[in-house]
Amino acid sequence: MPVKVLLLGGTLEGAAIARRLAADPGVELIVSLAGRVADLPDLPGRLRVGGFGGAEGLTAFLKAENIAKVIDATHPFAAAISAHAAQACGDLGIPLERVQRPLWSRHPGDRWHWADDMAMAARMAAALGRQVLLTVGKGSLAPFARHGGPDYVVRLIDRPASTLGFRRASVVLGRGPFSLADELTLMEHFQVDLLVTKASGGTATEAKLTAARMLGIPVILVRRP
Ligand code: NAP
Repeated sequence: MPVKVLLLGGTLEGAAIARRLAADPGVELIVSLAGRVADLPDLPGRLRVGGFGGAEGLTAFLKAENIAKVIDATHPFAAAISAHAAQACGDLGIPLERVQRPLWSRHPGDRWHWADDMAMAARMAAALGRQVLLTVGKGSLAPFARHGGPDYVVRLIDRPASTLGFRRASVVLGRGPFSLADELTLMEHFQVDLLVTKASGGTATEAKLTAARMLGIPVILVRRP
């Protein structure tokens, strides 16, 4: 009898784990995505999309589906779903595996500045940059648009449905992993003089830090929640 596993995904790591587990005949896999991006990735297993309805909804789902194990491979900034998974699995006594992304480490030549949250990063960006590459995701743009100041190059996965509210911004579309050559081209093309990023860690989006180091561009990193 295969073990029923719920994989909370939405990351490249999650997709890799899904492919590995799908090849295991001892596992019956359900992959869960929040449904934030228009193009759903092609993943093996049974796919379900959308919120569960808080920790209670997730608890009910785990019971109804008779899940034996949960793997939380969500993004390090996806704090709510991880907290819900911890609560639901704790309440039901179901094993929970949290996939940890390695933090990025600083190299000689890096010009890093730490921000505690997006509001702080927006204030710092206004003081430090004139042409700022913003790679924080669509849900975190508001403080930067509100604060004003520099011109922004906003990298998003999907084309935004409405204007972003910036005084001046260019939108570039892209989905990781990104190569170093592409990151260098992007920064040079837009004459970027500051990068703002979540301290997400992992390898898929690390090239932008290498590119910034090579070009002598300072970086604001927003601490993980
Ligand atoms: P979040 O703030 O932790 O979650 C907000 C709500 O979205 C959760 O309470 C849950 O709704 C639902 N949700 C989140 N992940 C889900 C999943 N894998 N399956 C089903 N429902 C999920 O998460 P977020 O920051 O909005 O991220 C959403 C998704 O995008 C995650 O899968 C994450 O891995 C991915 N992602 C996030 C970031 C980022 O920077 N935050 C970056 C790359 C990818 P209910 O309470 O209704 O269950």
